[in-house]
Amino acid sequence: MSNPLERADAGGLAPATVAVAAGRPHQPGDPVNPPVVLTSIYRSEEDAPPGYAREGNPTWTAFEEALGSLEGGAAVAFASGIAAVDAALGGLPDGAVVVVPDDAYSGTHALVDHLAERGRLTPRAVDIADTERALAACDGADALWVESPTNPLMGVADIPALAEGAHARGCRVVVDATFTTPMRQRALDQGADVVVHSATKFLSGHSDVLLGSAVTRDVDHLAQLRAHRTRHGAVPGPMEAWLALRGLRTLGVRIERGEASARELARRLAAHSMVHRVRYPGLPDDPGYRRATEQLDGPGAMLSFEVADAGTADAVCAGVRVIAHATSLGGVETTLERRTRQRGQSHLPAGLVRVSVGCEDVEDLWTDLARALEAAAA
Ligand SMILES: *Cc1c(COP(=O)(O)O)cnc(C)c1O
Repeated sequence: MSNPLERADAGGLAPATVAVAAGRPHQPGDPVNPPVVLTSIYRSEEDAPPGYAREGNPTWTAFEEALGSLEGGAAVAFASGIAAVDAALGGLPDGAVVVVPDDAYSGTHALVDHLAERGRLTPRAVDIADTERALAACDGADALWVESPTNPLMGVADIPALAEGAHARGCRVVVDATFTTPMRQRALDQGADVVVHSATKFLSGHSDVLLGSAVTRDVDHLAQLRAHRTRHGAVPGPMEAWLALRGLRTLGVRIERGEASARELARRLAAHSMVHRVRYPGLPDDPGYRRATEQLDGPGAMLSFEVADAGTADAVCAGVRVIAHATSLGGVETTLERRTRQRGQSHLPAGLVRVSVGCEDVEDLWTDLARALEAAAA
């Protein structure tokens, strides 16, 4: 296998093209798609380490090549997004101080708290959209964890400024790019040391697989991430890696479609009498609008809106028919949920509904949402 850090150069092609073209067999006579390689062992080769599939699988490699080309680094696939988060945190020294967004993904918070209880690390929670405060918290810290836009409050972080300031303070910078995907932001280009993804979401895109990934340009980080995967056994199944790659092929069109519909739904929701606030960085009066316009290639397909209270939000979620009332995000099917029904989310507005906008017709989505809002008011 050639050096993945050298392979990562996408040769100036647009991300939507790279998503289709990368990670394919390319010898004459090859199939155009990589096979699903179902094996736990490989026949021994002279002068090579014993071949065992916890250390590698060609189907993972195909997915890693494609995602690595998109991000401009070398990707390491994991069994889930949280396994990738765990591997990135696992590269920090014992007792490390980690600056984390106060509204980071709940599973990331749960893991960070668990590690903190064991004395493995010390978290410092900050509003990651407030660059000055976040950087002040980086003084004496070992790492800065970034999520942008944040989940589910949709705060937009200034990744280039955070990366520069954090590096000046000796901090490693990790960006969880699950919401933006490389179609909308390439955090390694903006200074991040490691980018992690829950590939379960937009990258796979069909709500049928759990997978994660970490991407880096640094040889030491790359070695640490791979060693962590092998040691902890956080390995993806070959079928999962194949499904994720299959989904990744259409990432460009799915994000484009979801984003266009999210923009329209956000606009209409903002004008609705029952909606107190819409959080979407594609709306000109959103606090993240300017930053998103300057630093992202688009505001993405996630939005949140607030209704009066938890009861009203539950009624809206129960009232939709085309949209699925379900957690998670990033699928072709539009989903929504009241976020405060999840554990550890009591700091959020009670009536906050998070929407992941998929690929259905936008008029059908709006009709469904408007009907559910009306029914909730009755
Ligand atoms: C879902 C999610 C994760 C965790 O990924 P899994 O694939 O569910 O393990 C991490 N970060 C963000 C932002 C997520 O949305």
